[in-house]
Amino acid sequence: MFTGFFKEFKNFAVRGNVIDLAVGLIMGAAFGKIISSLVADIIMPPIGLLLGGTDFANLYVVLKGDVPVGTALADAKAIAGVVTLNYGVFLLAIIDFIIVAFIMFLLVKWINSLKPPAPAAPPATKECPFCRSAVHIEAKRCPHCTSQL
Ligand SMILES: [Zn+2]
Repeated sequence: MFTGFFKEFKNFAVRGNVIDLAVGLIMGAAFGKIISSLVADIIMPPIGLLLGGTDFANLYVVLKGDVPVGTALADAKAIAGVVTLNYGVFLLAIIDFIIVAFIMFLLVKWINSLKPPAPAAPPATKECPFCRSAVHIEAKRCPHCTSQL
């Protein structure tokens, strides 16, 4: 019974698309981390600097509790009973998504351009040289004017 289960699992796992899917998921997760870091560590600091030293990860609204102005989000969260609305983190997630979507769009476009164009279907009919009607490509005699082709 165990060997049967193992065989079934092996058949499932060696099906190419399962491996492809797993590789895709793992690559996607790793890629997502790169994009998050790109946005949070590379793109947003200069933008924040231009906007007067805004750190997007620390943009939040205090809904409940007493938080001194300028407290970092992590510190504010650590204060007991404080509820914050973290729109800065949400904003970063949206920017992440837009960049990932744009890169995916470019990737798909590029992969599609690598695919050779589909070969045109061979013609199914030819034109009879005598009566100009369409006849079957392999016809030896025209069904319309009975000429030998
Ligand atoms: Zn004909």
